[in-house]
Amino acid sequence: MDLVSGTPFWLRRNGLIADYPALETSVDCHVAVLGAGISGALVTWHLAAAGLDVVTLDKRDVVTGSTSASTSLLQYEVDTPLHRLAELVGETHAVRSYRACHGALEKIARLDRLLGGGLGFQRTESLQGASRASHLPALRREVDLRRRHGFDVEWWSRARLARVSTLPFPAALLARDAAQIDPHRFAHALLRDAARRGARIFDRTRVIRRTPARHGLTLHTEHGQRIRARHLVVATGYETAPYLAERLTELVAAYAFVTEPHAAFPGWPGGRLIWETARPYVYLRRTDDGRAIIGGYDEPTGDPRRRDALLGRKTGALVRRFGQLLPQAPCEVAYRWCGTFAETPDGLPYIGAHPRVPHTCFALGYGGNGITFSVVAAEIIRDLICEGRSRDAELFRFDRGRSPAGNQRAG
Ligand SMILES: Cc1cc2nc3c(=O)[nH]c(=O)nc-3n(C[C@H](O)[C@H](O)[C@H](O)COP(=O)(O)OP(=O)(O)OC[C@H]3O[C@@H](n4cnc5c(N)ncnc54)[C@H](O)[C@@H]3O)c2cc1C
Repeated sequence: MDLVSGTPFWLRRNGLIADYPALETSVDCHVAVLGAGISGALVTWHLAAAGLDVVTLDKRDVVTGSTSASTSLLQYEVDTPLHRLAELVGETHAVRSYRACHGALEKIARLDRLLGGGLGFQRTESLQGASRASHLPALRREVDLRRRHGFDVEWWSRARLARVSTLPFPAALLARDAAQIDPHRFAHALLRDAARRGARIFDRTRVIRRTPARHGLTLHTEHGQRIRARHLVVATGYETAPYLAERLTELVAAYAFVTEPHAAFPGWPGGRLIWETARPYVYLRRTDDGRAIIGGYDEPTGDPRRRDALLGRKTGALVRRFGQLLPQAPCEVAYRWCGTFAETPDGLPYIGAHPRVPHTCFALGYGGNGITFSVVAAEIIRDLICEGRSRDAELFRFDRGRSPAGNQRAG
């Protein structure tokens, strides 16, 4: 599947940070991780840090799939607002899911420190504007419910917004806890550290088949090597069709561009993340080299040709929206790109074991907050494999909504 087109900024800025050999002989391991984007990198790191014998494989160069296209706003908010998620999955489930993602922000901060920094990580706040006055009651409900459950949020009136920004929203929700990172450097740093801890990483190694084995399974590569593993972790991002019979998601095309660097973007409220209530929405962040990234105007299509054909028109629409939100700020398009991602019906990811796929865990961080979901996935999968259970797995299991929650076990 063609995941990304145009010029994703991080790849252009960072170049080829590291490459890994292709697999040339058959190997045995405790856990095989399929995919070395941010999900596979996080899973590999967590398993290697737990002392497991891990082999990680990617058919491309590592970190050149969807992760290279990510705008990488780190938010605990799921795409589905808490009050709406509570209607879909129940309030307890919704709040626990939000808390799990909130915890992921702190874990990314810890990983950044542990990996030595320099990954473009920065804590910030997130401001979600009401795109229209008719969205205000739902935004108010969201603020009240989040406050009731201890999330640090504030209601910003139009007057409050006008004191610190040019944003034309009638009001906004300020969430104190948010962050941003360079996902390309982050994933590479995780892989490098995991390799230092003993993980064996191979890129340009395409897995084409799985067969059952006595104590696990065997993966077969296109050039005939075999990987015998007790457990498989599927972290193949939006290319999961060969591993899951059912269709769980809708594919969406997402667009973004980055500006030239500037000393200031007048009217931007203090470098915060900015997004809005409209669907599809537009979102903005800053980079550690003084640029702005603007993304959004997602298009409901999984067809890469249609996605790519819209890149020019979508970039124009994003530039116009940028001008409405920040009319005094400079906005030249330095690089523009698009990528495919996936949405689930309730906005939550699918993580953990699947009832009909033995010896396998899935780390599928589907949704606009895929990176925070990937952190949650890495911890759940480590616990399922190392301890046989994970309390949070019930929140993101495949059959949620179909049967009562219970702890999962790795197959
Ligand atoms: C434009 C855009 C903006 C986004 N913005 C944000 C954002 O602001 N915040 C956020 O949190 N998330 C965002 N996301 C989502 C986020 O980027 C993704 O959730 C995340 O990058 C997915 O990572 P991954 O590792 O699961 O997938 P990928 O990075 O695609 O990695 C999967 C890897 O699996 C490999 N693979 C697949 N099949 C095989 C096989 N058979 N054999 C070997 N290897 C295989 C692929 O080569 C690939 O490298 C955005 C996504 C896009 C496209």
